[in-house]
Amino acid sequence: MPRIIHPLAGMIALLTIATFWLSTAISELFLSEAAVVAVKTTIPWGFLLLVPALAATGGSGFFLSHGQRAGLVGAKLKRMPFIAANGLLILIPAALFLASKARAGDFDTTFYVVQGIELLAGATNIALLGLGMRDGMKLTRWKRGNFLRLAASHTTTLAGKEEVARDTFAFRLQKPEGFTFRAGQAVYVTLPGQKETDNKGSIRTFSIASAPQEPDLVIATRMIGTAFKRCLAGLPAGSPVDIEGPYGDLTLDGDTRPAVFLAGGIGITPFRSMIVDAAARGLSRDLTLFYSNRSADDAAFLSELEQLAQQNPRFRLVATMTEAPDWQGEQGFITRDMIERHAGDIARPIFYIAGPPAMVAAMERLLREAGVSVENTRAEEFGGY
Ligand SMILES: Cc1cc2nc3c(=O)[nH]c(=O)nc-3n(C[C@H](O)[C@H](O)[C@H](O)COP(=O)(O)OP(=O)(O)OC[C@H]3O[C@@H](n4cnc5c(N)ncnc54)[C@H](O)[C@@H]3O)c2cc1C
Repeated sequence: MPRIIHPLAGMIALLTIATFWLSTAISELFLSEAAVVAVKTTIPWGFLLLVPALAATGGSGFFLSHGQRAGLVGAKLKRMPFIAANGLLILIPAALFLASKARAGDFDTTFYVVQGIELLAGATNIALLGLGMRDGMKLTRWKRGNFLRLAASHTTTLAGKEEVARDTFAFRLQKPEGFTFRAGQAVYVTLPGQKETDNKGSIRTFSIASAPQEPDLVIATRMIGTAFKRCLAGLPAGSPVDIEGPYGDLTLDGDTRPAVFLAGGIGITPFRSMIVDAAARGLSRDLTLFYSNRSADDAAFLSELEQLAQQNPRFRLVATMTEAPDWQGEQGFITRDMIERHAGDIARPIFYIAGPPAMVAAMERLLREAGVSVENTRAEEFGGY
């Protein structure tokens, strides 16, 4: 629910302040004194909408941060006290003062000085709320079409874990009763009772690496860095894990053209799901996976993908290693030449990209330079923000 309330309340707050601001500016610049009086005496009633909207934005934002104080979430949280203080200490008193002056028809210098201050404070809050919305959209860009879709939260159980590459583990979670998803979608994951915390917070987004036909939900991640990852690594089988979702539209649905997957490192997770799913459903689409890693030891699910490529004539695997001179396959980063040698005409397929932000940006640049349109590209940044 907070995931719906937060953007909705933020949008209502932004639109309310923008309406106050514009109606004030327009009435005072272009309209009659009667219109100014009407606007100024109506604005205080608008606080009945604005104040709850701001409280709901702040409260839901705090809840969603899950202890994170760094990055985009941290920046959003830092803005909230300024927005609240600006509203409580400047906007509300100024609006009440201006309403009483306007009602008395007292348009003196004090009125216009306070009006100027109110417009400035209003513009500041519009800018701060706008920045919050921009950061929020960056954080949930992968949710795109799911904005108003209420996804369920489930407490599930860790069934087991296994190392699938160097420092990389796959975690098998029991699939909650009634949980359905499309191959390529992701979930929010939190660990109830997480003991160690840091300013990176206690929520992560993970693509589901297993296919819908498989019995468990599998997530996979590199075990480096944060408190969250250390806690995940140390979880014994049987521990509870909270998931919310599924979200995301990096799926094979709605298209029949050949698909080319460009995966960087752990960006393989949604593609493993899609490749297993396509085989299980007997999809007649040509799928080509370009899978870039430092070395074969770092490439999660590599031997399983090699087997899948042998079994399914519609699926081709091109594994490339950037730091393994002994690797018998492709070497180096994914290039246009590599794509064209294995997948043919670059203008024909639909491209799916997943991996670290720098890799996703490089692949998007490559495709744009090769003339592939934005419409034919779907990308998921596995970013820490
Ligand atoms: C759609 C999607 C799918 C992903 N799938 C995978 C995957 O399969 N495997 C994988 O290893 N990584 C995946 N990621 C990235 C993952 O969420 C982590 O950002 C990444 O693993 C790095 O985490 P870290 O703990 O090492 O720390 P850092 O990179 O230092 O921190 C990550 C930062 O991102 C923040 N963050 C991540 N998710 C959210 C969220 N939902 N809301 C608010 N803040 C958030 C964290 O709180 C933290 O501050 C995915 C990301 C997205 C957006």
